[in-house]
Amino acid sequence: MSEGSAKARGFSTRCVHAGEPLDPQGGIHIPLYNHSTFGFPSTRALLDVVEGRTPHGNLYTRYGLNPTIRALERKCADLEGGALCYAFASGMAAEAATFLAHCNAGDHIVCIGDVYGGTFELLQDNLPTLGIETTFLLGSEMDRLPEAIRERTRIVFFETPTNPNLEVFDTRGIAETARKRGALTVVDNTFASPVNQNPLELGADLVIHSATKYLGGHSDLTGGLVIGSPELLAPIGLWRKNLGQIMAPEVAFLLARSIRTLSVRVRAQNRSAQQVAEFLERHPRVLKVNYPGLPGFPGHAIARSQMRGFGGMLSFVYDGDAEATAAVVDRLRIFSIAASLGGVESLVTQPITTTHHGMSPEERRRRGIPDGMVRLSIGLEDPEDLIGDLARALG
Ligand SMILES: *Cc1c(COP(=O)(O)O)cnc(C)c1O
Repeated sequence: MSEGSAKARGFSTRCVHAGEPLDPQGGIHIPLYNHSTFGFPSTRALLDVVEGRTPHGNLYTRYGLNPTIRALERKCADLEGGALCYAFASGMAAEAATFLAHCNAGDHIVCIGDVYGGTFELLQDNLPTLGIETTFLLGSEMDRLPEAIRERTRIVFFETPTNPNLEVFDTRGIAETARKRGALTVVDNTFASPVNQNPLELGADLVIHSATKYLGGHSDLTGGLVIGSPELLAPIGLWRKNLGQIMAPEVAFLLARSIRTLSVRVRAQNRSAQQVAEFLERHPRVLKVNYPGLPGFPGHAIARSQMRGFGGMLSFVYDGDAEATAAVVDRLRIFSIAASLGGVESLVTQPITTTHHGMSPEERRRRGIPDGMVRLSIGLEDPEDLIGDLARALG
């Protein structure tokens, strides 16, 4: 199956077929080449790969020159509408390589809104040791973006929707401001997945995924991706190679398998999350529901303008203190208490106990993360069962 004319095909078709040429042995999918190295019939053939004359030549897996990894990368580039994708051992590896490749000592990053805890730590604690500083803007401070972008700002980074408030940011508007001022726009698209949103189409320069979440979809692999133009990916690839951050071939094989069902999974999760959000919105013990698919939600209009679906993540605020909220969480039977997201099994977490545990109470207040907040990752169980579980736990 050629990946060339992929744009003309529907998203589900591309999930199944994009990036997967027919295996020479007739295998119906790309096979698992677990090898660390590849052999050559002659020195000339080896030099053709080393010197770049053989397109798609295989050489050494840490370099990414491995057919299983490259097939996965072609599939993911296609689904995000990008020219090139590099696969990493984790989402954090992908982010770290991106920041290191595009920022030098003295350069600056603007990070908008709530971001994944590991991203925050990387920007706040690791990168300053290399002379790379970050300005953090709350979503409510978006009007300050133009002045926050300095002469040496290289990257404007954000997630949309965000964790745990599901804030939705206008990607087109931010990318336009960043471009005018000479900065790249980098979007972490983990929460939405490429089923619901393609940031490159909205003007972003690079898209990052924790493939550990929706793309993997079964809570059984760890991986990351960066997607964009070959020019922007070249320096990222050099860091990946020399920091040894490549995705393992077994993981690439498993991830390609997961992505063949991505659109079916995420569309079902979108539908169930909408039903759960509507149920919670009507519940007397629930003070607030954060879900982009609710017409009354502040980010709904922007979400409609840039997303094809509203995702499987939502949060709500229970009318009770930290302990009473923990008791609700503990009464759930179908939802498992866990910090991750995007799998076939529904997960629940109280942000103050996991993702935002290390944050001071004042900072949590500033960011609108109350003790009674509960975050749900909606899986593939019957929505009636999930609603029944929540109804019982809420009492
Ligand atoms: C999980 C996550 C990451 C980090 O990904 P890992 O695969 O755990 O390294 C980054 N961004 C978001 C939004 C995430 O949910």
